[in-house]
Amino acid sequence: MQAWVIGNWKQNPATSHDVKALLDDLLTAVSSKEQSDIAACQLMVAPSFIHLTAVNERLKGSSVLCAAQDISAHSASTGAYTGDCSAQQIADAGATWTILGHSERRQYHQESHDCLLQKMTHALTQNLGVIFCIGETQAQYDAKQTLAVIDAQLAVIKDLLTQQPELIEGLPARLIIAYEPVWAIGTGKVPTVAEVSATHQHIKQTLASFNAALDNMTVLYGGSVNADNADSFAADSMIDGALVGGASLKAESFLAIAQAFSRAMA
Ligand code: PEP
Repeated sequence: MQAWVIGNWKQNPATSHDVKALLDDLLTAVSSKEQSDIAACQLMVAPSFIHLTAVNERLKGSSVLCAAQDISAHSASTGAYTGDCSAQQIADAGATWTILGHSERRQYHQESHDCLLQKMTHALTQNLGVIFCIGETQAQYDAKQTLAVIDAQLAVIKDLLTQQPELIEGLPARLIIAYEPVWAIGTGKVPTVAEVSATHQHIKQTLASFNAALDNMTVLYGGSVNADNADSFAADSMIDGALVGGASLKAESFLAIAQAFSRAMA
């Protein structure tokens, strides 16, 4: 089993010059680490659309993978959808994965169940892996609705398999769930490791109930993970890695998180 540490760069860095500098730092740090330091951790970064091609070019020959942060819901390939970028275009730019359903997309773009079902179908039919983000808001957490919210969000996968059962082929290797409590994203607030662990166990059991092939799926935690708290999340066997926002914008903190998860796998 390997851990996954994925950097969601969001709308950062501001310029291609700064993207190149971040990548240079990252690749220098990766190559200077003892092989064993991060050997059990798969690294991935998710830049903005505009930087995808350049990032992929720069990552060629390295072990770091590249993801998009989103894809079009309207078409898997081409069409009159101003401002959208399709799964086929993302794959052509060299990315092999895409994040879907990030809480910022759900909040600012009103992404619904049906929209995410479309996006997931398009991603998988274009052979993109999917990092599917789920998680409850502060109000839902306070009302102890976390598991109910997660069940409703995971129903996208259930419906996908009902509508297109053939997509189960290869799905275990092409689907990662990122549990990200909305109230923990970018706030410095984190749930306890025990809370995350119990929620991850519930997610894994729910996925396995959809299809036996989805037994023991990879579930990452996301929300204010940093170099200081990564060890505590990494120590829990239910937490298979991290989706990292702020701390992924510095090679040093991103690699420190990867080291924590790699160590925990040993
Ligand atoms: C995220 O946006 O996916 C995220 C986890 O952000 P941060 O690490 O900054 O909380």
